[in-house]
Amino acid sequence: MVRKGFSFAARVASWLVVLNCLGSTVYAQIASTDLPGPLIPFSNRKAAEIVLKGRDQLRVLVEKDLILDGLNFPRVCAWVSPEEYKQLEVEGWSISWLPPEAEPAPIGIPKGSLAFPLEAYPTYDQIGALLEEYALNYSSLCRVESIGSSAEGRNLWVIRITDHPEIEEDEPECKLISTIHGNETLGTVVMLDLVHELLTEYENDLRIRHLVDETEIWILPLMNPDGYSHTPRTRFNYNGYDLNRNFPDRVEDPANTTAGRQPETSAVMEFTRDHSFVLSANFHTGSQVVNYPYDSSAYWNTWKHPDWYTPDQDVFVQNSLAYSTHNPLLYSSGQFPQGISNGLEWYQINGGMQDWNYVWNRCMEVTIELSNLFSPPASQLVSHWEANRESLLSYLEQSRIGIRGIIRNSQNGKPIPASVEVSGREGLVHTDPQVGDYHRLLLPGTYTLQIQAQGFYPLTVHGVAVQSGTASRVDVDLDPAYSGWLIY
Ligand SMILES: [Zn+2]
Repeated sequence: MVRKGFSFAARVASWLVVLNCLGSTVYAQIASTDLPGPLIPFSNRKAAEIVLKGRDQLRVLVEKDLILDGLNFPRVCAWVSPEEYKQLEVEGWSISWLPPEAEPAPIGIPKGSLAFPLEAYPTYDQIGALLEEYALNYSSLCRVESIGSSAEGRNLWVIRITDHPEIEEDEPECKLISTIHGNETLGTVVMLDLVHELLTEYENDLRIRHLVDETEIWILPLMNPDGYSHTPRTRFNYNGYDLNRNFPDRVEDPANTTAGRQPETSAVMEFTRDHSFVLSANFHTGSQVVNYPYDSSAYWNTWKHPDWYTPDQDVFVQNSLAYSTHNPLLYSSGQFPQGISNGLEWYQINGGMQDWNYVWNRCMEVTIELSNLFSPPASQLVSHWEANRESLLSYLEQSRIGIRGIIRNSQNGKPIPASVEVSGREGLVHTDPQVGDYHRLLLPGTYTLQIQAQGFYPLTVHGVAVQSGTASRVDVDLDPAYSGWLIY
């Protein structure tokens, strides 16, 4: 299933030939339409550890725009090139290369030994084959599609699990994405275990059946298949980008466009825009925490500045706890109270997928770090699944809290594309235009909804009471803005 183009070496070779024969002007013209591969595929950055003398030093590192990856004060992991390493050394930082993990878990399930929960890391090809098999064997519960290609031409497989997968229904849409960093492999296995659990236990487990019946669950187990498949596995994509620093960012890169972004980033952005996701999580390793927005702020340098927190702080905390309280590795790690943290209280990043989901789509995404080891040994995979099973189900069930409803045209009863805003919580939740359903996650309380749609009179609904548990339903019929002229 790998649709590779020319190899990197071949591309560079042809580029050099063009350069030698025709000169740099011609190369420049060719480069705009047929870019050669990166000069250093997958980047030459490696993990180094910097020991900080004080928290203020973290701010200096952030200002240097280094790729920081986890802070366990006073130690911070930074992905640096040899040049950056040398420069930091010259500046007097206490820095050392991190050794590769002692026993990198091999990738590939031995032939004939596929069992669930998985006891080995599958290859990219095995993941594709497995998902195709589910699509065949559980066609009444799932669909499989590729939402795009990686830089090296591998598919980004997504499985959609719900009852009646052939149609859109009035159900909240959730997504789970793993391994945006190719060396952080555990989440891919946990995602596949979850897929297996949802599909094979649907008939036996009432709770799972209810979840699958009432929710649309999209799972992308491997967002960086190139970094995952490379030897050695790497955080970066083929073009050397850290994909979790490649999304639009409300501070540094506020243009909400796919132009100039990496293919994996663009694919996920378009996939997200095509759906009205309300709840989401992206899975990493390297720490043990559920991290919620924001990760970036113009006021990152002012400890606990109000701008660090979203208007939905209460919901994010509850959602994060729904995950962490059921996972003893996270909840009791000791590094984060109750295993959760606001992003900026941990360390600032720009261009992360999590903040983009919330800022531009009002999709409530958290970043879940599953283990301190990037790739735990295969012998630990089953226990990691067991530590995450209840957390995953509880987290997905959070998609059903708050207020939900359908917005229709009062004249013909048809669903319309509309937006819903909760007073005091700036930011729009959009309906799914096919069914007209919206889902706004909220904790118990009384809320005011502002509903708007192009070509319709806006409507304010006061005093909507939300109880704990299942969402309150507020269906709304909007009047077309000029219907009066047509009637009289
Ligand atoms: Zn990561």
